[in-house]
Amino acid sequence: MTPPAVDLTIVGSIGIDTIETPTEKQEEILGGSVSYACAAASFFTHTGMVGVVGTDFPQEYRDTWTKMNIDLEGLQTEEGKTFRWSGVYEENMDNRRTLSTDLNVFETFSPELPEDYREAPYLFLGNIHPALQLHVLEQVRNPRFILIDTMDLWINIDKENLTKVIGKCHMLTLNESEAQLFTGERTLNKAAQHLLELGPEYVLIKKGGNGSMLFTNDDIFLLHAYPLESFKDPTGAGDTFAGGLMGALAASGRTDKEAIRQAMVYGSIVASFGVEEFSLDRLQQLDRDKIELRVEEFKGMCKL
Ligand code: AMP
Repeated sequence: MTPPAVDLTIVGSIGIDTIETPTEKQEEILGGSVSYACAAASFFTHTGMVGVVGTDFPQEYRDTWTKMNIDLEGLQTEEGKTFRWSGVYEENMDNRRTLSTDLNVFETFSPELPEDYREAPYLFLGNIHPALQLHVLEQVRNPRFILIDTMDLWINIDKENLTKVIGKCHMLTLNESEAQLFTGERTLNKAAQHLLELGPEYVLIKKGGNGSMLFTNDDIFLLHAYPLESFKDPTGAGDTFAGGLMGALAASGRTDKEAIRQAMVYGSIVASFGVEEFSLDRLQQLDRDKIELRVEEFKGMCKL
């Protein structure tokens, strides 16, 4: 049997972002969930990107992905403008306000997986409309491990389809407030129990700079975030975390709990690099050795 062309397929949004933090504003920079996630995964495994851009999409941004060895066979280019998003962070950088969202070619996006990607053993359904996530699931052939991400918008407008997709995935990731919004539960333990009942074996709750928690029916794993002295832009941190996690898991060839815990450490460490600069600027300069060094440093911090 020939090995699959990519080990990990990631589907999600591609955006050109304008981001304002209390100290800096950057316009028209490369963003989107699949861009961050593929960049993070690329340090560990051969990753295929499924997303859409418009005819205005800069060649320079495509080159960024190519240099990171991301497979672009699943990238669609449609007549029109690329999805644009802009947001502003408040003083403490914890809260973010969306200023504008222009869907453009993203509005009619229908993810079509190249034949090569359908056999990939690992699949990450990034944050897109749940109906589109279901459409992707109809195309893949028995992936070993599927992770799904989502956002408050889909919980609010299409909980029915979202519930369906969650039931077909091995792991669900969302942030603290989304878990509470979805379930109506105040504690994360109760929220996670509720979400596990929908079918996934694992529920990963992200708590931003406060780390993350992995829930199963049997136990909980707590992961602190790497303590950074400073960071510039938290946009896409969750996607980077999840992309790094899936990349590391695919590289391990495993799907067991121990492997997932290890992969979470890698995802979290790659995300800690990502937020040091805007867009993919930091990740572009990163390599596996620097990741391993920080992983070791982090493990030292966690030793009991
Ligand atoms: P995050 O920080 O995880 O919310 O991800 C930020 C990225 O999501 C940005 O780079 C945006 O381009 C992208 N984005 C913003 N709004 C949406 C949306 N409604 N659907 C999909 N992607 C989005």
